[in-house]
Amino acid sequence: MIKRKGLLLVVSGPSGAGKGTICKEILNRRKDIKLSVSATTRKPREGEVDGVNYFFLSKEEFSKMVDNGEFLEYASIYGNFYGTPKSAIIECLENGQDVILEIEMQGARQVKEVYGEGVFIFVLPPSLSELKNRIVGRGTETADEIEKRFSCAFEEIKQIDDYNYFIINKDVDTSVRELEEIISAEKNKVTRYKENIIEKFREEL
Ligand code: 5GP
Repeated sequence: MIKRKGLLLVVSGPSGAGKGTICKEILNRRKDIKLSVSATTRKPREGEVDGVNYFFLSKEEFSKMVDNGEFLEYASIYGNFYGTPKSAIIECLENGQDVILEIEMQGARQVKEVYGEGVFIFVLPPSLSELKNRIVGRGTETADEIEKRFSCAFEEIKQIDDYNYFIINKDVDTSVRELEEIISAEKNKVTRYKENIIEKFREEL
């Protein structure tokens, strides 16, 4: 067996593009992939569970984690803080486990600085009007929040240059298939595992 480190998959995209749904579905299909649970100071939405969807923290608790250097990245977005706890991720990657981070662009840029070998994937909506329909349709935000999220979308899309791949999310099934193809291709990239491949065959000499 060729020894492989896990992939750090960073999935971003404007609110409503469907990155959450895509990530949820790939986790259903692929038990070998783990989702990183973020911490946030936002209030839980109906049905969200602490420790499953997010670790819901007070501003003070969040600041303490920042001060202790416990985040791989963190950002303030739509008036709340969000951050990726470091602890579990590094261990997973070393053990060959693939990890998905579903985070926005400021955070993705920080991850790229400290972990350039991550795979950066941008989920796009088919159009801006479809994006608005989806944000309104899910009914989880107030009118004010919807406007805030929608007005950020184009600025966010302009940051696509920081990413390696894009997926246009017309339907979840096709998008998840495309994500799986990206994962397969990345797992077979020579530059990632060159030394391990040579080592494996050297052992047989
Ligand atoms: P929501 O409030 O809809 O759950 O998330 C708002 C935005 O925050 C989404 O774009 C989501 O991807 C992003 N987000 C969630 N967790 C994190 C995190 O740990 N770090 C960063 N930078 N963004 C996050």
